[in-house]
Amino acid sequence: MKAARLHGRHDVRIEEVPTPAPGPGEVLVRVRACAICPSDWRLYEDGHAGGVALKQPIIQGHEFAGDIVAHGEGVDSPPIGARVAVEPSWHCGQCDSCQRGLTHLCRNQVFPSFPHRDGALAEYIACPAYACCVLPEGVSYVQGALAEPLTVGLHAVRLAAPQPNDQIVILGAGMIGLSVLMCARAVGLQQIALAEPIEGRRQRAALLGADPVVPGAGNLRDVGVEGDVVFECAGEGEAVEHALYLARPAGKVVVVGIPHPERISFEADVARRRELTIIFSRRSRDELADALAMVAAGHVDLSRIPVREFPLEKTKDALDFTAARPGDALRAMVLP
Ligand SMILES: [Zn+2]
Ligand SMILES: [Zn+2]
Repeated sequence: MKAARLHGRHDVRIEEVPTPAPGPGEVLVRVRACAICPSDWRLYEDGHAGGVALKQPIIQGHEFAGDIVAHGEGVDSPPIGARVAVEPSWHCGQCDSCQRGLTHLCRNQVFPSFPHRDGALAEYIACPAYACCVLPEGVSYVQGALAEPLTVGLHAVRLAAPQPNDQIVILGAGMIGLSVLMCARAVGLQQIALAEPIEGRRQRAALLGADPVVPGAGNLRDVGVEGDVVFECAGEGEAVEHALYLARPAGKVVVVGIPHPERISFEADVARRRELTIIFSRRSRDELADALAMVAAGHVDLSRIPVREFPLEKTKDALDFTAARPGDALRAMVLP
């Protein structure tokens, strides 16, 4: 099969590699859409991610959807031909985290696209059958791929457990910030302020119901917005400190973005004097089926998220496009 393999910094090659064979409990998925996550771009840009270095070539991509084309031993569902999205956080089911139902915090977690497990920027990928969710009718492959970052927003909102009349603040209107916005709206929250420096993304946030929508966190403070819950979705170290300043006394700050640089600092007094709760959110907790159900029910409309499509051969362009953080597209979408 054809695959896009990252060999080192900025070095992506389209190569012919063996098609994976589904092992026991696995299915083979013919990938139809795979989005580029900024975390994919980070590995491409730096040659390491989350403290893990790239030591051998890897196929990236973990936000994807496709068709089931083969079953491994002991698998009979989803059936051959089913259109599926795939939860990319694969767990052992045995460790203490898994036993407590915290499968997304599995101590033996496998995450395709992250060293050293191949991802979905390829024609095929073998996946655990349990990780596949059948796409509801009317939900496209592209929307299926977008459902993965949507689960990240859903998980963050659930962790925060906001009250119905809470003022929400979101920093960042990339795919994750907008996912938090869409999920917050879907659970009935009305007051959602958002800060985002890129104009096109601000427009998108306003269309999706955020108000006010301003360029910077400082602008929110200027107009007196204080959040019961502040979601940090910009992934910048400084944004975490901005989030603290924007929280109301006894408020919550949820760190959803992956801070870069990885070491962050903030004035402890800001958090201490207001007795803030700081929550770190990690990916999602097997919430893909819930996210797809929200899409199918029309509570979240992923067709309002613009993407730019690329063939597999143009994966490098798709990664560079992601780096440019365009205002008119939230994800580069590779169609292998
Ligand atoms: Zn991602
Ligand atoms: Zn486990």
